[in-house]
Amino acid sequence: MNLLDMFPDELEKELERLGEKKFRAKQVFSWLHKGASFDEMTNIPKALRERLQSAFALGGAEIIKRQESRDGTVKYLYELEDGERVEGVRMKYKHGVSLCISTQAGCDMGCAFCASTIGGCARNLLPGEMLGEVLSAQRDGGERIANVVLMGSGEPMLNLTNVLKFLRLLSHEDGLNISLRSVSVSTCGLPEGIALLADSGLPVTLAISLHAPNDEIRLQLMPVAKRFSIDEVMKAARGYVKTTGRRVIFEYALIGGVNDEASHARELAGRLRGLQCHVNLIPLNALPESKFIGSSPEKAAAFLQTLTDLHISATQRRSLGADIDGACGQLRRVYNADGV
Ligand code: SAH
Repeated sequence: MNLLDMFPDELEKELERLGEKKFRAKQVFSWLHKGASFDEMTNIPKALRERLQSAFALGGAEIIKRQESRDGTVKYLYELEDGERVEGVRMKYKHGVSLCISTQAGCDMGCAFCASTIGGCARNLLPGEMLGEVLSAQRDGGERIANVVLMGSGEPMLNLTNVLKFLRLLSHEDGLNISLRSVSVSTCGLPEGIALLADSGLPVTLAISLHAPNDEIRLQLMPVAKRFSIDEVMKAARGYVKTTGRRVIFEYALIGGVNDEASHARELAGRLRGLQCHVNLIPLNALPESKFIGSSPEKAAAFLQTLTDLHISATQRRSLGADIDGACGQLRRVYNADGV
């Protein structure tokens, strides 16, 4: 295990194995979770720091490139210790700083409108690597990260063991201590993962990428629709609400001429009736590789109004960072041969 993958008790065991004092574990953990370098760990004897450094890898994520948008959004390119790269986005809202992180290097889900899936998935991220994305971004921004959304590249439910450990590390009281109520986990809708997340007891917000009011449209957009019908996704969502008592967020990217008619809004409302939920609308960010385009502002406003008239809780999400390709669905894994 890498240092950033370990809970304090795991760190304790490793220190004991090295013949070191157990009480150092908490100190080391709290330094690591401040994003400190070994040089900065001033209350740890130098000899121990050197031993740790030679015995373990850190297993974090280093920022190797940052791009700042006109709206203050920052897109990061992180490098992991094996050279694999992932992207993340830091956004500033009135209620605090939000960070969007990647859970896999790339993605295998194949959604037709999403850049993250174009090169497939190289590998799962480890807990410490996801934590490393947060630590590095917080250091870079010099401001506490209040919200974390698992909406960068990757399908969290296909890397759930690591994701759950990451969430426990992120919210650890001796670490970043970020409230899980300020964390959202987004999935393309894998029922088994949704049930496991509910059973984990972690009070995160679940977001399900629905993007369609019926299976016919969903099949045009998301290959996962071949495996699970919307009925099955809804059943999993109802199960989540029942187990956790928390509402579910449905993500709905509005795509011109595909899923943005008033009839689609009515059909969607019919599906969601009676379910404790909220709909997040976002006009699709078009990719050059894809034929799909975002809905016009008028269509988006009308869609929102139809849902609202039918008493479905819904809002339209602002799109930040579009000028740096940092908006939803624009994160990609492939860079030019000349590097960054
Ligand atoms: N795999 C997970 C999480 C990563 S994608 C999931 O599918 O939810 C995060 C969100 O961005 C999803 O709702 C996804 O459908 C959406 N998204 C992907 N490409 C997009 C694009 N081009 N425009 C708007 N949203 C997009």
